[in-house]
Amino acid sequence: MDKIIPLSVPSFQGNEKKYVDETIVTEWVSTAGSFVEAFEKKISEYNGSQNAVACANGTSALHITLLESGVSQNDEVIVPAVTFIAPINTVRYAGAQPVFMDCDDHLNIDVKKVEQFIEDECDFDGNSLKNRSSKRAIKAILPVHVFGHPVDMEYLMDLAQRYKLTVIEDATESLGSTYTMGKYKGKRTGSIGDYGCYSFNGNKIITTGGGGMIVTDNAKAASHMHYLTNQAKDDDVYFIHHEVGFNYRMTNLQAALGLAQLELLDKYIEIKRRNFQRYRSALDGHKGLFFIEEPEYSRSNYWFYTLVVERDQYSLSRDELLQKLSEKGIQTRPLWYLNHLQKPYKDCQSYKIEKAHWFYERVLSIPCSVGLREEEIDRVVSEIKH
Ligand SMILES: *Cc1c(COP(=O)(O)O)cnc(C)c1O
Repeated sequence: MDKIIPLSVPSFQGNEKKYVDETIVTEWVSTAGSFVEAFEKKISEYNGSQNAVACANGTSALHITLLESGVSQNDEVIVPAVTFIAPINTVRYAGAQPVFMDCDDHLNIDVKKVEQFIEDECDFDGNSLKNRSSKRAIKAILPVHVFGHPVDMEYLMDLAQRYKLTVIEDATESLGSTYTMGKYKGKRTGSIGDYGCYSFNGNKIITTGGGGMIVTDNAKAASHMHYLTNQAKDDDVYFIHHEVGFNYRMTNLQAALGLAQLELLDKYIEIKRRNFQRYRSALDGHKGLFFIEEPEYSRSNYWFYTLVVERDQYSLSRDELLQKLSEKGIQTRPLWYLNHLQKPYKDCQSYKIEKAHWFYERVLSIPCSVGLREEEIDRVVSEIKH
């Protein structure tokens, strides 16, 4: 069999080894060390946010921002049905309840349906938003920039400001994605809401092995989140603690890797976009296949290449295609199982979820690693056509 083509694996093409070596030579490998601060600074500069807080992973970054937002027991958070489950779980870690929303044609949260939900199903007293059926307060909204494609933040921020909702952007998949039109032209995903969260897991566009980051313009919140991620330690001598903290710090080893990877990010986005065009010109419109594309107001990092497989009487179903490609050594993946149907959340409220079901049955993500060679892309294309 030909060599396996994985879905999404990391690529180390720069100073990774040099910086990681430095942490070993200097023996600063753990949660103290100069790379952590340097990485935070570089991420906040890159992202155009005032502050950054490095975390153990993207999930812990989301957890801390929910706590910092004051989301707690008996609150609700508006979330998308279509996303990796991590952000939904963090709503539960905070003791709150998710309310699930449908997706749009880019697989992102449908902001117009969110507005409809608020107008038809909630009461606003000028200060707080209350869900009429559950009687709980809705504190926050957590949009996810799915597969790297930017959510319509202009629409969503207007809504959030009108109803005093905190906005936490799950930008874990969209590092480097940018708005090219409208009010947020030139701004990056993650820099628009009250908080933005990133992940540097091994399958993301750049990786630290495992790591995460929070960005925010709120300096006071950033300093408190640093404190919370560091066991809420008030001092280094007597170890006095005034709050329940967490061990959510990133290590110097991880940050060294991250700093080197960040130097490559713009180049990686170019490669991702170029490879997408190669796939697109070969496959888009071919026998009922089409790609999920970046919204017209944005430039996506194209973290994932996502096909919609529309079956006709001559072609394979999505799952048959997945199986055939797997037999040929090509790894692909359907959409995550929809979160409002997952066992821990099936009793939670969901609002008019329709499109998500349609996409759930048809979506297939195909190999997208930065290191993908042109002949590998051509092999994937020809197997899909075959
Ligand atoms: C990867 C991912 C996360 C979680 O990040 P980890 O670093 O794996 O904890 C959260 N949300 C989304 C949408 C993700 O894709």
